[in-house]
Amino acid sequence: MSNEGKIYRVAGPVVTATGISPRMYDVVFVGNEKLMGEVIKIVGDYSIIQVYEDTSGVKPGEPVSNTGRPLVAELGPGLLHSVYDGIQRPLAVLQEKMGDFILRGVSAPGLDREKKWDFKPIVNKGDKVEPGQIIGTVMEGTMEHRILCPVDVEGTVDDIKTGSFTVEETVATIGGKDVMMMQRWPVRVPRPVKVKYQPNAPLVTGMRVLDTMFPLAKGGAAAIPGGFGTGKTVTQQQLAKWSDAEIVVYIGCGERGNEMTEVLTEFPALEDPKTGNPLMNRTILIANTSNMPVAAREASVYTGMTIAEYYRDMGYNVALMADSTSRWAEAMREISSRLEEMPGEEGYPAYLAGRLSEFYERACIATSLCGKDGSISVIGAVSPPGGDISEPVSQNTLRIVRVFWALDTKLRERRHFPTINWLTSYTLYDSQLKDWYVNNVDPGFPALKEWAMLTLQKESELQEIVQLVGSDALPDDQKVTLEVSKMIREIFLQQNAYDPVDTYCPMGRQFMMLKLIKKFSDLAQKALVAGATVDKIIAIPARQRFIRSKYEETIDDELVGIDKDFDEQFKELGA
Ligand code: ADP
Ligand code: MG
Repeated sequence: MSNEGKIYRVAGPVVTATGISPRMYDVVFVGNEKLMGEVIKIVGDYSIIQVYEDTSGVKPGEPVSNTGRPLVAELGPGLLHSVYDGIQRPLAVLQEKMGDFILRGVSAPGLDREKKWDFKPIVNKGDKVEPGQIIGTVMEGTMEHRILCPVDVEGTVDDIKTGSFTVEETVATIGGKDVMMMQRWPVRVPRPVKVKYQPNAPLVTGMRVLDTMFPLAKGGAAAIPGGFGTGKTVTQQQLAKWSDAEIVVYIGCGERGNEMTEVLTEFPALEDPKTGNPLMNRTILIANTSNMPVAAREASVYTGMTIAEYYRDMGYNVALMADSTSRWAEAMREISSRLEEMPGEEGYPAYLAGRLSEFYERACIATSLCGKDGSISVIGAVSPPGGDISEPVSQNTLRIVRVFWALDTKLRERRHFPTINWLTSYTLYDSQLKDWYVNNVDPGFPALKEWAMLTLQKESELQEIVQLVGSDALPDDQKVTLEVSKMIREIFLQQNAYDPVDTYCPMGRQFMMLKLIKKFSDLAQKALVAGATVDKIIAIPARQRFIRSKYEETIDDELVGIDKDFDEQFKELGA
């Protein structure tokens, strides 16, 4: 068994070496500059390596050494607030070391080695400890970071300390093994849990169209496909800010040259609306800028997912966003073509579907080894060329995820934001989540939602008739239906991410708003029967008040007032 070999061939990010005898996915160092790479294929004596750094100038004959270890993420206090590249190198440290030049072979550990953390044990000497059990806590900013017994350690606590330690110092000895706060985990291997269970609560986002119409379950996965400029990034950032997850892992794969630069400047400036502190305090950002090699982008989703699993294992709800998974799939395609593999659909490798499902299947709600419940909800943006979702990445993603938020270019042209199309989007979690809405929002919630969806469907049918014969030809009750569905669209579905009040709509308010639209509808039909005209009904002052109310800070009082107004003003119309 040799761990030292030589480069045989270089093809962009893919390097072939001879003379090493690695296992699949071993990490190797390539060339004189010791560029980091990972063995992705073995053919006889040839080891094929994807390299995480720029390989220009690297030549056959240069040395290659095998570490014998897989690609791991470092897990421990200090993850929060970090901005990493795809292989968990802190960007700030890289920038400092490299300046404006892209120096290669720079290694920078994921966790700070000098910083000390106050470790408070919660088990005692003599206690029996199981793998994954919480042995102590550390305050990571305002988050309680729970130090977990490594999965390969168990037994009696021989010794445990209290005080200030770096992540590499021994804080406990368990079953004869020294334990430090940092642990390493191979990124391509899902971390174990005690038991996964079926999701039964929504990830509450404050976006009406999502929470009410197409909810994602906590522990589920959703895809947001959409063409350029339809609102993928704005939606992901809204979810990062507002969804009821304690931890956010944001994996950015820049679409355009400078987009990641925007994320890197914007994200650290985002405020956590719940605390007023920087959102970064509970966020880990993984950034793939366009000048980073594709192999690092390929690895980045696994690095991000492993970090998400680590916080899940502490008992937290984690939201993981990948923006955009299409760039990840393109990295796979590029590497595959360098390997001269038989291409599948549109040049993507045949294993595209497998990789996508392995990734999304790591979304879950589970009881962790420590006994606490935690979850990972995954939201993957997809950017199909030209917005046409018949392409392989969109199609394969939709076969896996159970929630589809379809962003629509036509809605963007009409300035209807968020551009989530209510006729083509779907969630397959409705029946699982029904009890949650009944118990936590209102027993009438499921019926109200069904009414709203039906009204919107009726609108699209009526619109076909209107296009043929004009709206004047419609009977009055159908004219009212069109007006009501317009209210559902404009008051309820449209939501301005940049308006301080409208940006976040609590669940109870969502219900109240929709209930008022239904009330308008019911009273309007009654008024018609009593002889009122459609024009008179549409003109009632409370309707205007309703349309304005969602931007007002006093909205909840307004809604109560509008409810009363409806009663009074419709009474005048005979309802
Ligand atoms: P994508 O990532 O799909 O290319 P973006 O998320 O960058 O698109 O959105 C493009 C633009 O659309 C934003 O800059 C913003 O002006 C507008 N937009 C998207 N979503 C919303 C929203 N919910 N409220 C208001 N404006 C929005
Ligand atoms: Mg974007």
